[in-house]
Amino acid sequence: MTSLPFTPDDGALRYLVETLTESGQAVSIFDADDNLRYANKTYQGMFLGNYNGPFTFTGIVRHAHRNGLGVRIDDGNVEAFLARTLPRRRSVPRKSFETDLVDGRWFWIDHTVLPNGWVLSVGADITTLKNNEKSLRQAHEAALKASQTDQLTGLPNRRHILGLLDEALAASETTGTGLCVAVIDIDHFKAINDAHGHEAGDAVLEHFAHSCRARVRAQDCLGRTGGEEFLLLLPEVRLDDAVRIIDRIRDGFPPAVLEHSRLELPCTFSAGVTEALPDDDRSSILRRADRALYAAKEEGRNRTRISSEGTP
Ligand code: GH3
Ligand code: MG
Ligand code: MG
Repeated sequence: MTSLPFTPDDGALRYLVETLTESGQAVSIFDADDNLRYANKTYQGMFLGNYNGPFTFTGIVRHAHRNGLGVRIDDGNVEAFLARTLPRRRSVPRKSFETDLVDGRWFWIDHTVLPNGWVLSVGADITTLKNNEKSLRQAHEAALKASQTDQLTGLPNRRHILGLLDEALAASETTGTGLCVAVIDIDHFKAINDAHGHEAGDAVLEHFAHSCRARVRAQDCLGRTGGEEFLLLLPEVRLDDAVRIIDRIRDGFPPAVLEHSRLELPCTFSAGVTEALPDDDRSSILRRADRALYAAKEEGRNRTRISSEGTP
């Protein structure tokens, strides 16, 4: 059995160069003074176009930049790019990195520096991989968003708003800046469904979500916890202000108007509000808010009741 010729003979060398020249990989070799000594067709298409030289690394990079070729330079400053790149070109014997081109393609570059300072660079086109990665990432983000969102109102769904409640409780505990939560329930909602149909009920829910969100601050969170029940988180707010905020939402809650019939559906809501206490968790704070909501319903609805003390 003959061993593999690790040192190619002249014939192998010739065909090596001929096949490299045709290869889809971008291959170049620069000498120790950074003059380009060999570039295959793919590399030439990427960087050179009709360039006539000088074929130095800096000359080629400047030419490519001027002519819309080569690597994409984020801030468009080719001199700053060279100042960053040159000191690192021979800093390690071997490195790999990805880079994107002005034409939108992505390449994975493998850089080898010989002890005598010559640099071999081989780049593989990874554009398809990058595009697949991007679609997967976008699909993942869309799926995550869908899993957190209530389809009808676009608000955070039950699981998501309860997670946000956990986070808000932890933040309030750390910073001591306070947190109020309100459980809000539409009054006699079943009667709206019964009188005007389920779609009318849906329109009321969307209308409430929209109208409430428009009247709270950006840092407040409204989520839909169930049928016609919502949870409002008011960080850095004390109890009396929380009551004022909810009354403002109530005062500015116009009747929902049905799209086709233009029928107006006036409706009200009741709310139970409480302020986070030290050592509160999700269930203890919701229990107090629910109890306050129950009191608001008992007292005739269309009102806000508070539960101020830390009874479990
Ligand atoms: P209360 O003032 O005591 O809160 O009375 P209510 O009628 O609002 O409450 P109840 O719990 O008796 O009825 C809630 C109704 O909400 C019953 C259910 O069919 C309806 N519902 C739940 N989810 C939806 C939904 O997504 N769309 C519509 N249109 N109705 C829903
Ligand atoms: Mg109700
Ligand atoms: Mg209810």
